[in-house]
Amino acid sequence: MINPLKAKMKAEQKKRDLAPTQQYCKNCGNNKGMIHRYNINLCRRCFKEFAEMMGFKKYS
Ligand SMILES: [Zn+2]
Repeated sequence: MINPLKAKMKAEQKKRDLAPTQQYCKNCGNNKGMIHRYNINLCRRCFKEFAEMMGFKKYS
């Protein structure tokens, strides 16, 4: 038997689960050490790699 209300609730739950409250690194999927600045969605480690790729240079 299909319970439309229950099905809807389940769908809503799924939607909630999919909606990330926490952001994950789009490169490695890690959510630790995330950089939320600039909406880059990368963790610190990947940011370092991407930064170099994107042309950010460290001047020392
Ligand atoms: Zn990463």
